[in-house]
Amino acid sequence: MQVLKFGGTSVGSAKAIDQVCQILKKHKPAGRYAIVVSALGGTTDKLIRCGQLAGEGQEQYKSVLQEIENRHLDTIRELFPITAQSSMISQLKKKLNALENLCDGIFQVGELSARSLDKIMSYGELISCVIVAEKLRQQGFSATCKDSRELIVTDNNYGHATVNFHATNHLITEYFAQHPADYFVLPGFVAAAADGDTTTLGRGGSDYTAAIIAAAVNADLLDIWTDVSGMMTADPRLVSQALPIAHISYEEAMELSHFGAKVIYPPTIQPVMDKRIPIWIKNTFAPEDYGTLIQDTEERSFPVTGISGIQHISLLTLEGSGMVGIPGFSKRLFEALLQERINVIFITQSSSEHSITVGIHEADMLKAKTAVDSEFAQEIHDKRIDPLQVEKDLCIVAVVGDKMKNHHGTSGKLFGTLGRNGVNVRAIAQGSTEKNISAVINKADLKKALNLIHEAFFEAPLKQVNLFVAGVGNVGSKLLEQLQQQQHYLQEELGLQIRVAGMANSKNALFSEYGIGLHDWKNQLTQGDAMDLASFVERIKAMNLRNSVFVDNTASADVAAVYHEFLQHGISVVTCNKIACSSDYAYYKKLKDLARKYNASFLFETNVGAGLPVINTLNDLVRSGDRVQSIEAVLSGSLNFVFNHFVNGNSFRSVVKAAQDEGYTEPDPRIDLSGKDVMRKILILARESGAAIEMDDITNHSFLPEACLDAPSVADFYETLDEHADHFQQLYHEAASAGKRLKFVARYADGQASVGLQCVAPDHPFYKLEGKDNIVLYTTNRYQEQPLIVKGAGAGADVTASGIFADIIRSARL
Ligand code: ADP
Ligand code: ASP
Ligand code: MG
Repeated sequence: MQVLKFGGTSVGSAKAIDQVCQILKKHKPAGRYAIVVSALGGTTDKLIRCGQLAGEGQEQYKSVLQEIENRHLDTIRELFPITAQSSMISQLKKKLNALENLCDGIFQVGELSARSLDKIMSYGELISCVIVAEKLRQQGFSATCKDSRELIVTDNNYGHATVNFHATNHLITEYFAQHPADYFVLPGFVAAAADGDTTTLGRGGSDYTAAIIAAAVNADLLDIWTDVSGMMTADPRLVSQALPIAHISYEEAMELSHFGAKVIYPPTIQPVMDKRIPIWIKNTFAPEDYGTLIQDTEERSFPVTGISGIQHISLLTLEGSGMVGIPGFSKRLFEALLQERINVIFITQSSSEHSITVGIHEADMLKAKTAVDSEFAQEIHDKRIDPLQVEKDLCIVAVVGDKMKNHHGTSGKLFGTLGRNGVNVRAIAQGSTEKNISAVINKADLKKALNLIHEAFFEAPLKQVNLFVAGVGNVGSKLLEQLQQQQHYLQEELGLQIRVAGMANSKNALFSEYGIGLHDWKNQLTQGDAMDLASFVERIKAMNLRNSVFVDNTASADVAAVYHEFLQHGISVVTCNKIACSSDYAYYKKLKDLARKYNASFLFETNVGAGLPVINTLNDLVRSGDRVQSIEAVLSGSLNFVFNHFVNGNSFRSVVKAAQDEGYTEPDPRIDLSGKDVMRKILILARESGAAIEMDDITNHSFLPEACLDAPSVADFYETLDEHADHFQQLYHEAASAGKRLKFVARYADGQASVGLQCVAPDHPFYKLEGKDNIVLYTTNRYQEQPLIVKGAGAGADVTASGIFADIIRSARL
């Protein structure tokens, strides 16, 4: 005999029930079949709602009843020819009348007991089984309907009844021995107590009904037909990359289902496992998919089979010096919980025996607190233990695999992955069988944690990185262009899937958890929400996506002022905005410390020399033990452009204007011309060399007359350049007559930094610096004779974007 169970979605519509018939038609070999059905998907929830409303004295229960009736009527009308409909409809009405009477009674009394709720819930399966059996008969099967309440005997623990296997097995074997039909259709989930009262086996319990029957009749196989192609490596609703598991052991399936893999109801496995009957989970809507075969599996090499999570968890901690070395505390704790029928999902005890922590469903929290505090009232009064501590808003993630015990490093990988992404682990439990490692985390982190763990154990080497890009002007749009261009390469060669999950300019903000399509981002952004920095930050934090990176392409002080919020959420920051690193040393240091503490990257290579490897080179030197003696550099592409073009005949003003028009200056050219931009850069290099210096410590030998420095607006500034044209001509002539060139140079040595205009002779490495190029000379203990030179284009949107791009990759590969 074979037992097949069809779940709620599998019988949830006329089309689905038709599909069930197709599956049964194709089923080989011919033989006897017990078909266990769930209620039409969603019906049980509606029935519960109905009972609750009636119990609360709310008349809306009537409209919920009506919805239930309509749903079933529609299905019957769609499934059967008119001639067959009336008998079905009258059977339905009879059952629904009884249900309505029951609800009316509850409404009158204004109280819903667990006993009545079981009666109400049973109608879902009692009705669906009649519909499915009739449809099978219509299709030519000799199908008999049998009420499971006449076969499965339980205790009176309504809502979660315990099966009396002795009585049940006897009834089942006797029934099937005496009835020769080929097809039996039975309602799942429902059973009866010894006194005949209707009971239920717990939500999702139709699977269990099928397993009980399969075990009793020694079935060859138990099929669980559902709406997914088997048990998957994670819940597909939470992890879109989840993969079907073809083969899995009974123990692994039990662990996974116990820890939240809803695809199979946890108690289902035990009865069939005892008889070594294989369970095959199949997809009603894709029957050709292999699905998952649960049985004794042969040796496998990979350590982790699946991951899952349970929501709505509370932690209870019993703690106190009075517990150490005295036996019996845990026994009393568990007994107190057992008395209240509270299910313990998770246990961990510190080796000092100073505390014991258990995880339970949040719904049981208050009951548990009262029961435990009352059990330990005397010890609490004597201050030998503390009142029970409770924490809520938690969930559990569990990694399951028979082979974990033979593999080193599984828990290291698990906790490393969570830690690097700012997921705080509140408690850990690892069974001694090492088939399961579970961690309690905040409920807000569940989806992120499951995806991270899934990525680490099943998807390697593809790592998803989620970018939030602020500023999509010159540099930002180039960056997006480069990202789009390189997408394929990054996936194939580096195993990185980089998605832009959010972007903003000063007007609009746009988000997509699945990644914004980069071919058309401009258009989408104009339709985004109005930009507001505080909400932008909050939204990024709330999205809580794994491997998040905030990319700042703006020159805004406001944006620079929120980096710490990202870093302390484990979100990396990549920026070409110099403001944060050149602000107070304390803020710069704080950001660096936060990055270290929360395992995030804080990268700003493009703060100096655009895409040139100026900061990375310096970091490599310092980290490998070298010591910087001095730095001498031309760090302003804009000023270099200006002085390279300021040759005989050109006015200083026109050269500055040309530099601005070409995009080589900051939006406000005064920042470049005043030397402030160069000061910021040498400040950052000095800090990266290890000096704790401030902007005020830098000497600026400005070449601008006071009037230019004081100009209140950009337009006024240009005017003053004209007014002082002679001053600039004189600077040029002094240099040219000595055969030298003007360069704006930054220096750092022994904790002192300065910037200023300098005449350089033809034998100096700066003399031939062309266009907007930058050059940096590092003289260090290891590079004493000849400085280490970094030279090349130091400005421009393209090279800056590629520098940011490189930082993003660096942060992703951390
Ligand atoms: P049925 O009504 O057929 O019993 P359920 O809704 O009870 O179906 O269980 C199937 C659902 O379980 C799937 O649709 C899926 O969303 C969920 N699920 C949770 N974890 C897993 C997992 N690891 N593998 C497959 N499905 C899972
Ligand atoms: N109909 C019941 C429920 O929704 C049992 C089941 O579908 O397995 O919980
Ligand atoms: Mg189910």
